[in-house]
Amino acid sequence: MAELYLFRTDLRLQDNPGLQQHARADALLCVYCWPRQRPWCNLNGLGAQRERFLLESLRSLHQALQALGQGLLVLRMDPRVAIPQLVERYGITRVGTSATPGYYEDQQLRSVTGQLGVPVDVHPGNTLFSAQQLPWPLGGLPRQFTPFRQQLETIAAEPALSPPAQLPPLPPGVGFPALRSPSTIPDPSFPLRGGSIAGERRLQHWMVDLGRVAGYKQTRSYLNGLDGSSVLSPWLANGALSVRWVAQQLQTFEEVAGENESTRWFFQELLWREFFHWRALADGPRLFSSAGIQGNKHLRTFEARDFARWCQGDTDCALVNALMHQLVASGWMSNRGRQIAASYLVNELNHDWRYGAAFFEKHLIDYDVGSNYGNWQYIAGVGTDPRGGRHFNLQKQAEMYDPDGEFTAKWGGHTPSQPRYINDAADWPLDG
Ligand SMILES: Cc1cc2nc3c(=O)[nH]c(=O)nc-3n(C[C@H](O)[C@H](O)[C@H](O)COP(=O)(O)OP(=O)(O)OC[C@H]3O[C@@H](n4cnc5c(N)ncnc54)[C@H](O)[C@@H]3O)c2cc1C
Repeated sequence: MAELYLFRTDLRLQDNPGLQQHARADALLCVYCWPRQRPWCNLNGLGAQRERFLLESLRSLHQALQALGQGLLVLRMDPRVAIPQLVERYGITRVGTSATPGYYEDQQLRSVTGQLGVPVDVHPGNTLFSAQQLPWPLGGLPRQFTPFRQQLETIAAEPALSPPAQLPPLPPGVGFPALRSPSTIPDPSFPLRGGSIAGERRLQHWMVDLGRVAGYKQTRSYLNGLDGSSVLSPWLANGALSVRWVAQQLQTFEEVAGENESTRWFFQELLWREFFHWRALADGPRLFSSAGIQGNKHLRTFEARDFARWCQGDTDCALVNALMHQLVASGWMSNRGRQIAASYLVNELNHDWRYGAAFFEKHLIDYDVGSNYGNWQYIAGVGTDPRGGRHFNLQKQAEMYDPDGEFTAKWGGHTPSQPRYINDAADWPLDG
């Protein structure tokens, strides 16, 4: 009996509990449906770097599946249309996928399930803990990070599973259309390639070979990334790398080289990711509402040209400009950079935070629905921040994190000052 496995944010073979469950089927069809940007903010399509990284990740997964006599069918179709068609065409008797947060993703899956006359299993996603391990039901999840962390620090994360040694054959007649080539190459400053092999290499290099995790607390806020924080997020976000495997490697490192404040801090960051993941599941559509999960009505505006200039890195703050250039050119920005750029949009321009989040969604190669929208809400003061939002002093941030102006110069932050524009009612968006 043929089964179908829908890959979503779990683009790997290793430690993939969902795929493991379907490894005993008589025949298996592995499918991926190309993501669509949320239908708002007039920011359609993926940025060039995000698309490149995703294409590389899919190619890598296809090759890994091919080595086991399988393959990945990548469709530029909505799963609500694609999956029912495939189920009928190949006589599929069971469908599986891994859990992933996001209201629209959830709606999609519900709609697929509703249309099918076969069972749909949702397996654990790329999280340290399963829903059963959490000490709270989803509705009782702490609204702030500290109590969440304190309880979870006492629980052991699930051990990572080995990749399947073999997979069932394909249903007869399946063909794999060639994936199109990416339209760009990585920026030389961030030569990050998609796929599990590249993710494993980065983990090995940063954590084990260079032992950088031992000094993580001191370097994590470097704006230029590769020598500071782990830069593992791109592979964690699309699931090419298992977070349980990263935690396991961290534990091995601590056993060999010793635990210290930095290694503990690094684990805490994995818990932040975990926190936003589970909150996103609990918060549903409130993750995308302007008043946030707190229902805090802030009077914010949408001013088209201010927003366009922020996106283009053409503001009156050189550091913000440099950060936005870095984002679009490379698909990446450090955590500190994201906080500064987001604070500028929210606090200096008093702009609706959701447009900034949507722009990040378009471009970040590590885009993750919970972490992105959760962090934006946090800064905008409508999310989980107990201090009610973050307003960064930009001059102080530049002095602390770019004292010689090297980063700002490298990413062309100094643009000539622009005239103020007159606003026109025609600039206002019709939706969003
Ligand atoms: C406005 C804004 C938007 C963001 N959008 C995203 C996003 O779309 N995807 C994403 O993965 N992260 C996002 N983050 C969180 C954070 O900036 C990135 O996870 C981090 O910069 C990735 O770099 P790294 O892998 O070197 O992290 P490290 O510092 O090495 O941390 C290790 C891992 O911990 C997790 N992590 C670290 N900080 C955070 C955090 N604040 N929130 C959640 N997880 C964290 C990530 O998985 C990261 O790979 C956002 C932060 C802000 C302020």
